[in-house]
Amino acid sequence: MKNENEFKLIVDSRSINESFARVVVSAFITPLDPTLEELADLKTAVSEAVTNCIVHGYKDRFGKIYISGKIIDDSVKITVRDKGCGIEDVKKAMTPLFTTGEGDRAGLGFTVMESFCDKISVRSKPERGTAVTLKKRITGKAKW
Ligand code: ATP
Ligand code: MG
Repeated sequence: MKNENEFKLIVDSRSINESFARVVVSAFITPLDPTLEELADLKTAVSEAVTNCIVHGYKDRFGKIYISGKIIDDSVKITVRDKGCGIEDVKKAMTPLFTTGEGDRAGLGFTVMESFCDKISVRSKPERGTAVTLKKRITGKAKW
């Protein structure tokens, strides 16, 4: 039988919840015994996804961020979703250095998520919201 585990979490789009989400995801994958690098990579990718919900999805307002996680054997899947403004052109948005943010944004969030995970997928509809799914295999020895 496969080893499976799941969580679901709803948080407000406040920047304090970026670190909260990182901690939850770290704790969730701890039983898979990730390397420090795998742990840091996934936490960074989750931070980027959550930050995007806060600064882009809910640009001028607060809303809810829906985070879910699923482990199947040695693979982890994290989905970060908002019901914010959505993305007109996902392919363009994922291009390195593309940003609609003001001055302090590098336009590298999606690039970071892609390089730190095995696979990312983005679904988005203008005025409806955005869902980012991050997948990563953890090489450690699971302690179930
Ligand atoms: P950085 O992440 O480097 O600070 P950035 O957030 O602009 O800059 P990305 O994270 O790569 O860069 O995102 C690229 C663009 O995609 C954003 O500028 C924004 O236009 C759009 N985007 C990303 N996530 C969302 C979201 N959840 N809702 C609406 N638009 C988004
Ligand atoms: Mg970003």
